[in-house]
Amino acid sequence: MSRLPVVAVVGAPNVGKSSLVNRIMRRRGAVVSEQPGTTRDRAYNRAEWAGHEFTLVDTGGMEPSAKVGLEALVTLQARVAVEEADVVLHLTDARLGVTEADGAIARELRRARAKAVLAVNKLDNPADDTERHRFYALGEGEPHAISAIHGLGVGDLLDVVVALLPDYEPDAETEVPRLAIVGRPNVGKSTLLNRLLGAERAVVSERAGTRRGRRGDRNRR
Ligand code: GDP
Repeated sequence: MSRLPVVAVVGAPNVGKSSLVNRIMRRRGAVVSEQPGTTRDRAYNRAEWAGHEFTLVDTGGMEPSAKVGLEALVTLQARVAVEEADVVLHLTDARLGVTEADGAIARELRRARAKAVLAVNKLDNPADDTERHRFYALGEGEPHAISAIHGLGVGDLLDVVVALLPDYEPDAETEVPRLAIVGRPNVGKSTLLNRLLGAERAVVSERAGTRRGRRGDRNRR
């Protein structure tokens, strides 16, 4: 049974991962929080570009140096997304330049099965190419300039991503029934999900209301 190819968007906190995913899913102007680290675990979306269907996974901010606390848990979730992915989109922030976290993420991605594509976000002025060039230092090949907010470069980036996807032939057997777990905040939805799946699929924090996004909205555009 073939499965839909998986593209994971990873990067340090606040580089614009959710903005990019919203842009790709055409959720323009939708929920992007000013508060860093709003996506804590992994959010799955069914996406399509140029006739290629894939699962697009949004992740929380990767901080490979974090060993304890919520940051370490979120980083662990992003690593699981990398393991599941066929292509990993490593997003960086032109305004911050190449950071230590970017370097650590690049090193992890070199060891991963997935193919990595590097994108430099927040290049709102396409005429200025100086910042993009600095990201060659990460050794992840060509840095692709984008502005997630303005939608610049996103189409060209997706062309590169879908060209790397494995072949996928949809067949009836891959259509699986869907089940949603709903309930008031903090009643134990994520804990139940983890139990059912027998794995740490969702970050459960003592802090109420940690789960902000939505998982498994496979048909949303
Ligand atoms: P995440 O934590 O990586 O998911 O980052 P977000 O998508 O939440 O974005 C973090 C911040 O960067 C928000 O304030 C966004 O408005 C801002 N941002 C995202 N993309 C761009 C961009 O292309 N240009 C500019 N100037 N700001 C952006």
